[in-house]
Amino acid sequence: MANTTAELEALLMERSLTDAQLQTAAEAAADFRIQPDATVIKIGGQSIIDRGRAGLYPLVDEIAAARKTHKLLIGTGAGTRARHLYSIAAGLNLPAGVLSQLGASVADQNAAMLGQLLAKHGISVVDDVGLSSVPLYLAEVNAVIFSGMPPYKLWIRPAPEGVIPPYRTDAGCFLVAEQFGCKAMIYVKDEDGLYTANPKTSKGATFIPKISVDEMKAKGLQDSILEFPVLDLLKSARHVRQVQVVNGLVPGNLTRALAGEHVGTIITAS
Ligand code: ADP
Ligand code: MG
Repeated sequence: MANTTAELEALLMERSLTDAQLQTAAEAAADFRIQPDATVIKIGGQSIIDRGRAGLYPLVDEIAAARKTHKLLIGTGAGTRARHLYSIAAGLNLPAGVLSQLGASVADQNAAMLGQLLAKHGISVVDDVGLSSVPLYLAEVNAVIFSGMPPYKLWIRPAPEGVIPPYRTDAGCFLVAEQFGCKAMIYVKDEDGLYTANPKTSKGATFIPKISVDEMKAKGLQDSILEFPVLDLLKSARHVRQVQVVNGLVPGNLTRALAGEHVGTIITAS
């Protein structure tokens, strides 16, 4: 067991970078979280932002109030305009990497609009949430907005079938929360949470307040309220071991979730 930098370096010099002993040695350091006090909230594209004023104005007020007591990284979804672009681009047989760039441009548009709505509260949009200015924004105004699409662009790992980019804004926001070691990940959408079937198309669907990734897969719900890759990202996460999905059309839900209340559905890693 290597527990000094020198021992780890020796392993790194002579072994494969995926060698089991090397991996264990690289894991030996104490847990470290970059932004442990921040919460990532994702504002849904199709589910919230595409509703315009009706969806966004109440949430903007909630966010403005909430950031007085919470540190918020606010990611945006893409939504209907991205789906329209995907349909045109897929019809032209363009690859997943190009569709990923197109989808990102819509999430960027949504971040730009949300940024204008929150500007009077001093909350800004950052171009790249991974870059160095984020800690300063969080320290100064407790909040920052980012575009939720992960910046894989042309280098996205394509899905086995089709050209729709598998890692979209649910995944992008989750990865920000996990890499920063954030306190929580809250998805703000337009249903009360997860149901046994899509409540928009199945009248008899029943609400599920809490569920694990494995239980979700066992029920055939792996591709439902969250993009399917998020479930595997969650299952193998080190820091963010659960996510919460709340109905942002119900005033107060986001505030309650931020306060640690069990509103909506909680999806757990294990
Ligand atoms: P976003 O706007 O964040 O991209 P989506 O529209 O992609 O959100 O996802 C939320 C939608 O997922 C809901 O509006 C709902 O219609 C749909 N959905 C599909 N299956 C389910 C399910 N089993 N439970 C809840 N919602 C579901
Ligand atoms: Mg979606």
